[in-house]
Amino acid sequence: MRIDLHIHTSPLSACSYIDPRDLVQEAQRLKLDGICLTEHQVLWDPDQVDKLAREAAIKIFRGNEFTTNQGDVLVFGFFEDIKELLMIQELREKVQKAGGYMIAAHPFRGFKTFGIGQLQMTVEQASRRKVFEFVDAVEIGNGKLSPDENDMARKVAETLNLPGTGGSDAHRIDELATWVTAFEKNIENEQELLKELHAGRFRATEFGSGKTEDR
Ligand SMILES: [Zn+2]
Ligand SMILES: [Zn+2]
Repeated sequence: MRIDLHIHTSPLSACSYIDPRDLVQEAQRLKLDGICLTEHQVLWDPDQVDKLAREAAIKIFRGNEFTTNQGDVLVFGFFEDIKELLMIQELREKVQKAGGYMIAAHPFRGFKTFGIGQLQMTVEQASRRKVFEFVDAVEIGNGKLSPDENDMARKVAETLNLPGTGGSDAHRIDELATWVTAFEKNIENEQELLKELHAGRFRATEFGSGKTEDR
């Protein structure tokens, strides 16, 4: 089951241009099995999701993207409405208490541009970033990142033995499903999604290219 785990829609994410109804249409056209709405610290109203899902041939799940002092984190199975920037420890505590799941989003976005690349940051050094102590998984395929940036995330995930996810991070409709997460089992609802995440029964996949990551 191929699910895009990381999508922003308008108007809940001010930076996105994607109309949720267009999103559903496009996801169906691309033959995705599911999509996750992961706005920036805004939760979808479950009734609104139901409404959107009613005529859809795909599954629609809710997540959330939190900004922490250690970077962005995708969170599933945690539905507390928090608007302020959180310390990663604080978010971890809350999410764990709720039985939720945390993924370090695009952990090496821009690492070449802000110069660390030139300093030849090793995978070893990159693995020591604090964010990785507080997450269950690493986003190793993010549609907005360069292959180098994704590659660094994949190597770090391997080093730390953390599972890797894929998501487009789409803000425009044509950015949808560049990377997805392929789950082994069929997923009907958010509880099942959470269960499969915790079980690690998934791998990041570059959509449509036939190229599959190992984890
Ligand atoms: Zn982000
Ligand atoms: Zn995002």
